[in-house]
Amino acid sequence: MASATVLRSSGGVYDVELEDGTMAEAVLRGRVRLAHRTGDRVVAGDVVEVTRHPDLSFTIEAVVPRRSQLARLAPGSRGRKAKVIVANVDRVVLVFATTRPEPKARLLDRFLVLSEANELPALVVLNKIDLVSDDVASAFLAPYDAAGYETLRTCALSGQGVDALGAALCSARSVVTGPSGVGKSSLLNAVQPGLGLRVAAISEAVLKGQHTTVTAQLIPLACGGYVADTPGLRELGLWGVDPEALPVCFPEFRPYLGQCRFRRSCTHTHEPGCAVRDAVENGDITVGRYESYKTLREEAVNSPR
Ligand code: GDP
Ligand code: ZN
Repeated sequence: MASATVLRSSGGVYDVELEDGTMAEAVLRGRVRLAHRTGDRVVAGDVVEVTRHPDLSFTIEAVVPRRSQLARLAPGSRGRKAKVIVANVDRVVLVFATTRPEPKARLLDRFLVLSEANELPALVVLNKIDLVSDDVASAFLAPYDAAGYETLRTCALSGQGVDALGAALCSARSVVTGPSGVGKSSLLNAVQPGLGLRVAAISEAVLKGQHTTVTAQLIPLACGGYVADTPGLRELGLWGVDPEALPVCFPEFRPYLGQCRFRRSCTHTHEPGCAVRDAVENGDITVGRYESYKTLREEAVNSPR
């Protein structure tokens, strides 16, 4: 048996990368196949044990326990098994533009909650810094710097920040996402020629309505590391986070949790003596981030159980 990494799946066939870097196609067998049918799906990023048969075909015999995953619950299925999008990722890279399109901080907060809920570190990339003043860029990033997130300013045209982005991507497995038009393809192409095109081709297939066959895929980088493309992630609304689990998904709230008058039962929305709301009033938590918390809490409370 040999170890391999699943890069993508299509119609029951898995493209796997063997340890020596060669590619093979494999199908599921035995218990793995059964587990897959009952919901323990094999996804991009999974490390699997494969057997090579005399006819040179490969079968996947076992899945190595995941060290991390990016998952969500299907809408309305809270409490049921999480839908795993990609396995064994190290980081989520969230790309926004300074302008064209205008950056939506509340959307960024939504992605950050997804990262936190999966206990994955996030890197916030603000691209197109050539189009605004430093002050404008800083104002957008300040709440994220303050919350302890790694942030990066880039310009895909001039190459500013591209080395730093490349260093981050080449050393790990990253899920890269963000609204369309912010410059993701341009940035990926700047890191590795042609990379953005490969990712765009997948996204296009999704736009054409081939949702069922196009799942996440892992693209190996020449410099080491992988970029995971996760079609459909951008369109997701609810992440299936329980309202009770939400406050801790805002890192800057953490010092105040447990400090409220009503302790654990405080929802940080209206209660007297709320340490989180006090921190907002004192300027230690930004109003925008707190607004995101309230919006996402509202959604979580109202989503079907
Ligand atoms: P994607 O949809 O996120 O992959 O975005 P693209 O990479 O396709 O870029 C969208 C548009 O923004 C293209 O016209 C790019 O040339 C432009 N663009 C990308 N990065 C930058 C940048 O840093 N500065 C400026 N001014 N334009 C950029
Ligand atoms: Zn509170």
